Amino acid sequence: FNSEEFKKFSKEMIDFVADYYDNIEQRSVLPKVQPGYLRNLLPPKAPVEPEHWKSIMQDIEKVIIPGVTNWRHPHFHAYFGVGIGYPSIVAEILANALSGPGFSWISMPVSTELETVMMDWIADLLGLPEHFKFSSNGTGGGIIDGFASDATHYTLLLARERVIRNYSNDDKTFSKLIMYTSSQAHSSVTKAGLLAGIKVHYVDTDEMFTLRGANLEKAIKEDRNKGFIPFYLCATLGTTTSCAFDNIQELGVICNKEKIWLHVDAAYAGSSFACEENRHFMAGIELADSFNFNLHKWMLVTVDCSALYVKDKTEINNSFSVDPVYLKCPVGGELPLYRNWQIALERRFRSLKVWFTLRLYGQKGIQNHIRKHIQLAREFEAMIKSDDIFEICYPVTMGLVCFRLKGSNELNQKLNELINAEAQIHITPSKLGDKFILRLSILYEHATTEHIEFAFNNIKKHAESLLKS
Ligand code: PLP
Repeated sequence: FNSEEFKKFSKEMIDFVADYYDNIEQRSVLPKVQPGYLRNLLPPKAPVEPEHWKSIMQDIEKVIIPGVTNWRHPHFHAYFGVGIGYPSIVAEILANALSGPGFSWISMPVSTELETVMMDWIADLLGLPEHFKFSSNGTGGGIIDGFASDATHYTLLLARERVIRNYSNDDKTFSKLIMYTSSQAHSSVTKAGLLAGIKVHYVDTDEMFTLRGANLEKAIKEDRNKGFIPFYLCATLGTTTSCAFDNIQELGVICNKEKIWLHVDAAYAGSSFACEENRHFMAGIELADSFNFNLHKWMLVTVDCSALYVKDKTEINNSFSVDPVYLKCPVGGELPLYRNWQIALERRFRSLKVWFTLRLYGQKGIQNHIRKHIQLAREFEAMIKSDDIFEICYPVTMGLVCFRLKGSNELNQKLNELINAEAQIHITPSKLGDKFILRLSILYEHATTEHIEFAFNNIKKHAESLLKS
């Protein structure tokens, strides 16, 4: 293909995307297709002869869009959402065009270099400890990877290597290793344990679904008495079900004393620390060995973009350094050899979309975005509280509201089904303790009070019809 065709295709596609989102409210938030819908719309084999661009463009509406769940829709309130900011989409055009997998400095110098600067910018934006920054010239640093799950998995492997080195005379060490997390942690922590072959001890939280020091201390003591070797804790700042915050201060003191790696998963809520008033939720973060959050959740960056900081990057060189002749890179100096900071060798140029996003919104733009979402969540919480048929299940901390219809779990399950079957709005439920709850997240970049009222009226309509029947 030549550059003229590239220009034509891209311009048409950009117009399509802009029009699509300008008119998004006319589209359904959820697709109406059934599983398996797509196969019959496509030929069984790839075309032998080249096709025309025009026919692809025609198929977008026919084949692709019917199967799209509209995450950037004002009535999408499910999960924790993803940020889909235009600056990020534009940056991805350039990143894809350059497409150099920056696994070493020379393979794509700008990729490594921009990433280290962006990691320092982000650390400052969130008010993270200086020791996580490359510019502190200490042992800390960070990487922009794809997902929070990768960060948990990778730091668990780092911690596992560290503890095994310390017990090198005992070949039974591996089978004695035990890691901790709370009963409220995301399923990705369970998956990390499965992938690394490590037993997971789920420690009970307090009544506010916060993991506290006393319960961790008790679990460690019990496990040591049984002959286990505790070595890793994944704490959460902003749990998936209710956006509860573990007590990092209490947990950090214990982990440091017990030589347990403390990883902090702040996948969603991490972005909120861009606003100073939210930083009390991460008190004690200087005690953590690693910290991770997803810019693609709440910082207007497209999937995939997750920032992981480690306090001591020498652990990476000690554990996961590979340096075959065909990958040798004579230059790079103190800059990180990012291929050793992740599982794959090749990597995407993700820092470019961070750079575009932070520059085009500015720190103020990001802060306003987060504050607006928290404000709207509080407005929705007030609507729920003002209506006798509902109850709030957890006080609003961020842009998430947990609520339910007063009554049984079955009633709330039914309410969830009715809301999502009509699909004027989309929400996802969860289980908090033994209660089936509904969760409403504020996600849309241009969300307003009217969108929140729309959601409330829709939920109330279904709740009343359910109560009548
Ligand atoms: N951790 C928490 C607290 C989450 O809420 C989520 C997803 O919502 C994850 C981890 C998983 O994130 P990812 O898809 O980036 O692996």
